[in-house]
Formats: sequence, C-alpha cells, structure tokens
Amino acid sequence: MKKHNFSAGPCILPKEVLQQASESVINFNNDNLSLIEISHRSKPFVDVMEKARGLVRELLNIPKNYSILFLQGGASLEFLMAPYNLLTINGKCGYINTGVWSEKAIKEAKNLGETLIIGDSSDKNFNYIPKNINIPTDLDYLHYTSNNTIYGTQFKSSPETNNILVCDMSSDIFSQKIDVNKFGLIYAGAQKNMGPAGTTLVIINNDILGKTGRNIPTMLDYSVHINKDSMFNTPPVFSIYVSMLTLEWLKNTGGVEEIEKINKNKAKMLYEEIDRNSLFKGFANDDDRSIMNVTFNLVENNLQEQFDLLCTKNGINGLKGHRSVGGYRASMYNALPISSVNYLIELMQKFEKKIWLKY
Ligand code: PMP
Repeated sequence: MKKHNFSAGPCILPKEVLQQASESVINFNNDNLSLIEISHRSKPFVDVMEKARGLVRELLNIPKNYSILFLQGGASLEFLMAPYNLLTINGKCGYINTGVWSEKAIKEAKNLGETLIIGDSSDKNFNYIPKNINIPTDLDYLHYTSNNTIYGTQFKSSPETNNILVCDMSSDIFSQKIDVNKFGLIYAGAQKNMGPAGTTLVIINNDILGKTGRNIPTMLDYSVHINKDSMFNTPPVFSIYVSMLTLEWLKNTGGVEEIEKINKNKAKMLYEEIDRNSLFKGFANDDDRSIMNVTFNLVENNLQEQFDLLCTKNGINGLKGHRSVGGYRASMYNALPISSVNYLIELMQKFEKKIWLKY
C-alpha cells in the first residue's frame, strides 16, 4: 500500500534522494567502494562536504562572513553551544519561550549565566507566538525558535532587535526565504527539510565569536570547527551526503523561493479543510499557524479510534499529535508531495460524510 508520510522528523525525503543514497552505500561514484567505508579525508568525501556547504550558501544566499558547519549532537547540543560561544562571563541573554524546545534551550543557557525570558506563551499551552514583546537592548543575544514543531506555531517574521539574533530553525529551515544578515547564529538538526538525522547545520557570523572571555571546551567551540572545515573530528558522512543530495533536489525544484510557494499552498489547503470540516478544529492561533506542522484536534474526542483506524487502513503515517498537545499533526516538509495533502483532505471529507463506514 502506498504510504503518505506526515511524520514530524525524521520525516519524508525525496524518493530520488533515497534511491541515490542507497546506491551510494553500495557503490559510491562507481568506484566499487561504499560511501560509508571511505575516509572522510579522501577527495571524494571532501568534495561532498564542499558541495553541501556550497549548496547551503547558494540556497540561503549566505554572505561571505558567515561560516557553514555540519556538526553532531543535534539541535540539542546547540542549546548549549550557543551560550558557551556567545554569552559573556558577566552578561545576560534573552529567550522567547514558545514551547518544549525553547525551554530546553533556556535550561542550558541558565547553567552558564543570566537568562531572561522575554515573551512566553506557556499560559495557553504554547498555541500562539508572543507579540509586542519588550526586548532589552543590552543582551549578549536573543534566542527564539522560528517554528514550534510540537504546537504548529511559527514566527511570521523575526523579532525586531538590535541584539545578536540566534534562531533554532530545526523545523522550517529551507522552507521559506530568510535574510541571513539579520542573524548572528542559525542552527537546525538535519532531519526535517535537509536530510537524515545525524548532522546539525550551523550558520554563524564569524564576527560575533571570541568575545565571551570564557574557556570553551574544544568540541563546543565554533571557532575550532570553523578552522577545521567541520572536520575537527570524523563528521557524520552519511548524513552530510544525503543532505547534499536533498539540497541538490531542492535546487532542481526551483530553490527556496519556489518551495515556499508550494509549502504555503499545501498549508492553505489543509487549514481550509480543518476550518471547513465540522469534525475538526485547529490547535494553533490563526495568525501564528505553521506552514510546516499543522496541528488539529477532533471536536469530539470519542471519534478518535475511528479516525485513527481510517488513517492506518489508508496508509497515512505519522499523523499522531505530540503527547503534550494530543490530536493530530500533519508535518508537511519540503519533500511531502501535494498529492499526499489532497489525499489526507479527501480522507477527512469521507470521515465527515461517514463514507468511511463502507470500508
Ligand atoms: N528544536 C526543534 C524546533 C525541534 O523540532 C527539535 C526536534 N524535533 C529539536 C530542537 C531537537 O533536535 P535534535 O533532536 O536534533 O536535538
């Protein structure tokens, strides 16, 4: 049965990328060696790394004074690396709290120094993005999470601030155009729009480093990784390779500008159905709805077992909402085809008309 994969991450990747990746695991570049058994310092792999870096720079239009890194430890390690590299010994940083991932980032920063919570949507289980927040002007940096994977909320623009802006873009990087110049540091786990789990993309303005006055453990020091071109230690070769293929696919699809149009259209279609269909209601505040993760609930919870069964029987994968929100979450990352969105919408319509009883 054909599967429609709405998983929140790891998630759907383009079919042709998976095909090419599986072939390269057996025989990379027709050299009768596997991609994952050659040295990361060999020319074929160094070429992969350079191509991946080049594609990131091209797709996001990244200025020259920014470095692009492929690290390990997930976005979760960046929660710690950001303050280590940017929070001065006696300084303070600010965080906008929009959910579990922000909270985890806040926890790490608190271990290192004064951490202010500037805006917080926990009063409504994070179903909205805090607005009109008062941002102090003397922070070492301001951190926010651009897309809140669990709750399906998303910043429609970056917060206005004169402080260094740090952003966790794990679940919406490469989904829409961004102006990298506005940011000091951007990080994102690969496993949504970029590739398989295993590497973390870091984009950092070189000029903001080296100012904290603290000793940074080697592996946590961005400067070390910059100086070694992400090869201070053995990089996650497979994840970087598949990321390169996915970014190549994105480029061939028309790049970020084109995928943004497609993503917005997919999201619009599904939100319209949720608002129209009498059995469902959206979770996130209308103005703050994410184009990547669409969260919704049944109006009557007692229909859950039936809708779940309908989804399972019809090849829908990964639609279950996160336990802290419940209901459903349709993650519609770049590689999810519009046909899958149409398919889900039709299923929701059949469910409303009780046509599903015939199955
Ligand atoms: N931030 C966001 C917005 C996420 O969605 C996730 C994971 N889904 C993380 C951080 C944590 O990422 P990782 O598992 O790569 O550490």
